Amino acid sequence: MLAIHGGTPVRAGTAWPRWPEYDQHTEAALVAALRSDRWSVSWYSPRGGKSRERLFGEAFARYLGAGYGVSVDHGSGALVIALEALGIGPGDEVIVPALTWVAPATAVLRVGALPVLVDVDAESGCLTAESIAAAVTPRTRAIVAVHLACTVADVDAVTAVAAAHGLALIEDCSQAHGTRWAGRAVGTFGAIGVFSLGAAKSLAAGEGGAAVTDDPGLYRRMLSLRADSRGYTALPPAPGEYELVEGAEVMGANYCMSELTAAVLLDQLPRLDDQHARRTRQADRLAAGLTGGLYPVPVPAQVDRRAVYEYGISFRPGTFGAATVEQVAAALTAELGTRVYPPRMPLHRSDLLRPATKPRFAGIWAGATHAAEFPGADHYREHTLLLHHSALLGPARDVEDILTALDKVRVHSGSLLTKGVRA
Ligand SMILES: *Cc1c(COP(=O)(O)O)cnc(C)c1O
Repeated sequence: MLAIHGGTPVRAGTAWPRWPEYDQHTEAALVAALRSDRWSVSWYSPRGGKSRERLFGEAFARYLGAGYGVSVDHGSGALVIALEALGIGPGDEVIVPALTWVAPATAVLRVGALPVLVDVDAESGCLTAESIAAAVTPRTRAIVAVHLACTVADVDAVTAVAAAHGLALIEDCSQAHGTRWAGRAVGTFGAIGVFSLGAAKSLAAGEGGAAVTDDPGLYRRMLSLRADSRGYTALPPAPGEYELVEGAEVMGANYCMSELTAAVLLDQLPRLDDQHARRTRQADRLAAGLTGGLYPVPVPAQVDRRAVYEYGISFRPGTFGAATVEQVAAALTAELGTRVYPPRMPLHRSDLLRPATKPRFAGIWAGATHAAEFPGADHYREHTLLLHHSALLGPARDVEDILTALDKVRVHSGSLLTKGVRA
């Protein structure tokens, strides 16, 4: 009997890996930042020297092979300053995938422009060059390409279509920290790469974000945009001096990252490659074990280092009989004691995208031009099961438990219809 109906679960009493991963070094880094008396880039340092958020911006850019990095408060803030740095605003359209966390669409609205939703590939969940090309109008200025869950958009095709139409490309890599396409990190192919560093992400700081670019002008503008029109002093500040100076070419707001957050990130970043390697090993084992209508979300051959945010398992229609993805996910969660879940609702169906409820967005959204149907996004949503990346940070037997649970739920999927599923 399935665990969700009172049967014995596949796994009980064995803990899943903890997330986030931290230790006494993280604690020491945080305490050192606390005792530095400098909790913000906007405050001075009694000792002088660069802020931790500046050091993290530099270290993260170096990790990705980008020219410049800017630390910010959130991935959402990174999206807003990226759009503003590119001069995007009222009257402009920005292409956004229909399947993503809501922030890319919200960020476009926040700068006064219109997000134009486009369909995604039914297997990868990522937007495609074809759907972008079909949505381009004379008002289109930019594309926000999201590298989703555990795979990437076709970087070559997307950069080509952006160039062909003269559009700026922003890569949202909030789910792909350090993924490499043909030897080069995603986030460095477009004008700007943006990253969330939220608690669930594979590089986590509770709340945080970053933007990277190779363009010194965009870098300067993004610094001012995220620090109320202030950039850095040319030299690291002397003891008691401020590091931020006024005088920007573009007016900003406050999207600064706290020094305490930056201290945690400076500890976390050097752990990322080892975590990538551990997750990739587990992902490969899992992919090798999937059978009977189940298969991994495809990863293009050009990807030579993989970041997993959410591991995606696809299933062919009918694999679990007539059970819905929600029913299957709930049954798997009960078997495993770790959350298995469907992708979020595509934005055209999502309760998270409700611009009409906000006065400053309602007028923009009234002019929305996107399609009514997004069959690729709907297919991905109804035929994909996701697991958080932390479930791939443990030993090999964790994968065996996942495969056993998939098999059990598939064999007994008929009972999900006859006995129902407890919410
Ligand atoms: C998490 C996420 C964001 C938003 O990041 P926050 O740090 O929560 O603001 C943006 N885009 C994508 C694709 C994300 O997954």
